[in-house]
Amino acid sequence: MARHCCEDMARHVEKPCIEHTQPLDCPDRVIKYSPVFDEYGLIIHDGGSASYSILYCPFCGMKLPASKRDRWFDELEASGFDNPSLDDDIPEIYRSDAWYRRDRGAH
Ligand SMILES: [Zn+2]
Ligand SMILES: [Zn+2]
Repeated sequence: MARHCCEDMARHVEKPCIEHTQPLDCPDRVIKYSPVFDEYGLIIHDGGSASYSILYCPFCGMKLPASKRDRWFDELEASGFDNPSLDDDIPEIYRSDAWYRRDRGAH
């Protein structure tokens, strides 16, 4: 399964660091990936959680998938969750990439 566009990207977003459990705390990490939103970002190491959205892979130049953040909010709000990002009762599939992968049928 080719989840990311290239090995460099996969290494950056998946490589666990033994020193830092939180990717944002690790100075070696420059890219974060959010499976829930299918979204890549350049980490800004300013002590906060800010990141720049990136549309193309900085390693291989491939166009990255469009963020599904808006769709995630749309679907959950349509299901009656007024504030889904703060709601602990949202369906389990919306906590991972399962909610948009279900559309692709068989794996
Ligand atoms: Zn790439
Ligand atoms: Zn580290």
